[in-house]
Amino acid sequence: MTSLTFYGGVNEIGGNKILLQDKDTKIFLDFGKSFSRRATYFEEYLNPRTSNGIVDFLTMGLVPDIQGVYRDDLMVMAGRKPETPEIDAVLLTHAHADHADYISFLHEDIPIHMGAACHLILKAIAERGQRSIEREILDYKPRPYNIKDAPIKRKVNEFRTGDKFKIGSLEVEPIHVDHSVPGAYGFIIWTSEGPIAYTGDIRLHGTHSEMTTDFIKRAKEVKPIALITEGTRIADKEKEESEKLVYDQSKKTVSESDNLVFADFNFKDVDRLMTFYNIAKETGRKFVVKINDAYFLKYLSQDKHLSVPNIDDEDIIIYLPKRGTGTYSDKDYKGNDKEFVDLHNCWTAEQISARPNKALCAIGFYSFTALIDMKVKPGARYIHSASEPYNEEQEISQERMDAWINHFGMHKFQSHCSGHARGQDLINAVSEIDAKMLFPVHTKHPDAYKKITENLTLIEEAKKYQI
Ligand SMILES: [Zn+2]
Ligand SMILES: [Zn+2]
Repeated sequence: MTSLTFYGGVNEIGGNKILLQDKDTKIFLDFGKSFSRRATYFEEYLNPRTSNGIVDFLTMGLVPDIQGVYRDDLMVMAGRKPETPEIDAVLLTHAHADHADYISFLHEDIPIHMGAACHLILKAIAERGQRSIEREILDYKPRPYNIKDAPIKRKVNEFRTGDKFKIGSLEVEPIHVDHSVPGAYGFIIWTSEGPIAYTGDIRLHGTHSEMTTDFIKRAKEVKPIALITEGTRIADKEKEESEKLVYDQSKKTVSESDNLVFADFNFKDVDRLMTFYNIAKETGRKFVVKINDAYFLKYLSQDKHLSVPNIDDEDIIIYLPKRGTGTYSDKDYKGNDKEFVDLHNCWTAEQISARPNKALCAIGFYSFTALIDMKVKPGARYIHSASEPYNEEQEISQERMDAWINHFGMHKFQSHCSGHARGQDLINAVSEIDAKMLFPVHTKHPDAYKKITENLTLIEEAKKYQI
């Protein structure tokens, strides 16, 4: 007996939590945070209370109310008895929050399987920010919170392409895919009824499209009894996009300027990071990164497959923000940040504004107060290298961003290529794999697959589907 139950990623983009049961073996494919569901009830000044453990999350349906998955401390806080974990493992496709973050609530005896590069990214994320109950993936502190408690580590099992491993009655074959973060994988899972394939998040127009092609080929070869596919952009209009186009457009934008240039992009996207790092080098500028993002360089440079520069690279400068006293005193920089500040390659805002044509600043909207300290001159350029706003909240942010840009007389440029496959690429991939059953997740338009298959399941949340 094999079944799939979907507790997230149903008619929404992200929040994937897919339960696969095979005989006595139960695993979750991803256990992500649903941003849309969270935003239904919560906003900037109204958040689920950390002091209430998991209760706010359970009550408002941000995590499913199921047995034998959650941490003992959280169950006790919710007035329940600790439960023996009934889940054998979580297979994590990649490090994005909408797939990974709610692992935070899971019992520490449930092992998490993830790609080696995904593990590095999660380490960087854990070290760069403050602990929060929604972001305790690699370890957690039991609640009620006590600063003196040592963190409890989860069991992490790393894999790479080519590995295969067993979990109970299942055999798992992870295969690399291309997405806007390194260490992204799809899975072929051999169940007692036959193989099931899960894409995770994929694209075919990126720098490493051959990785996604490897997954599609292998999935086709095994003749899956079921395919769980992402469908983020299945119904979107086609447009020309590629990382090469971002590089070409942005290099032009940077090389035509004698003024400061800013690039706003997601630092976990290593392709984009390398695009701007290379543009900086080729245009005689230093690549200026925030302390926050230096953690990604520190960890990702450890993976030789990625060729990411380390923080001491001669073309990298770390931007030293004003903190504490506002005087750049040593005492203002504490904790983990200190290791970067002690390096020789830090520049203050004053040092950057003294050589505007020598810096390409990877500094985006959320660090715009830096523009004040840098005394940005009219004509400076701002490259927005992220998706355009797709909801009301983001539109309000965009208006604010534009106000800053106008205030400083800057020029704005848009250049981006998505982490998700185009509609036609998804259609081609799904047709080629030709699975017996199709389960679209991570999309608001699952019915768009109707045109290519009759074996489509329009998923209902929490319903058990026999395979
Ligand atoms: Zn996703
Ligand atoms: Zn993703």
